[in-house]
Amino acid sequence: MCLSESLALRNPQLRIAETDVVEYSATLRTPYLRKIHYLAVIIFKPLQLTSMLLEQAKELALELMKQHGLNHWHFKFDYAKRRFGCCNESTKTISLSKHLTSINEVSVVKNVILHEIAHALVGAKHRHNSIWKQKAREINCEYTSCYVPKDINSVEGNIVAECPKCGFIHRKYRMPKRITSCGKCSNKFDKERILNFVRLQNTDS
Ligand SMILES: [Zn+2]
Ligand SMILES: [Zn+2]
Repeated sequence: MCLSESLALRNPQLRIAETDVVEYSATLRTPYLRKIHYLAVIIFKPLQLTSMLLEQAKELALELMKQHGLNHWHFKFDYAKRRFGCCNESTKTISLSKHLTSINEVSVVKNVILHEIAHALVGAKHRHNSIWKQKAREINCEYTSCYVPKDINSVEGNIVAECPKCGFIHRKYRMPKRITSCGKCSNKFDKERILNFVRLQNTDS
């Protein structure tokens, strides 16, 4: 098994081209530097992938908001772990969970954005009633309930935690019984890397 394969197996989000590794290791002659480099690849590659997706999601949200006439509305990411999207009428802000956005596909994120846009268009007082549902359908939103549809990334381990140091998102099928810390950026228990696991449930509150 080559290095990129073994890294990819340990972390399915991580896809490193063999050429990346070969290219760098050729320039790093000493084993010590090579070790540092591999560590950098392990830590920074997922971050890079995550921020790319977040940037993409932000652009998509702004575009859709403009398309539906939400000209005086703002967009932001929040740190919510249990709900995916949020529509705040008083601050005229639509926000997406950074955690959930980074582990889901564009089509899922798009539906959550549309779900929140529908709230913004009809007013929060309608919650998920028939008026809101009608608007959601009108703007082609497939998520017309507040619960996580099956295609949202939560099936394969809906217990998640983000490492406070490296930002890696850890997923589990069951709530861990013991306190654990991030194994991606430290190979021993570290109280600064404690993983605060939560169960993902709703698309919004
Ligand atoms: Zn909703
Ligand atoms: Zn970490």
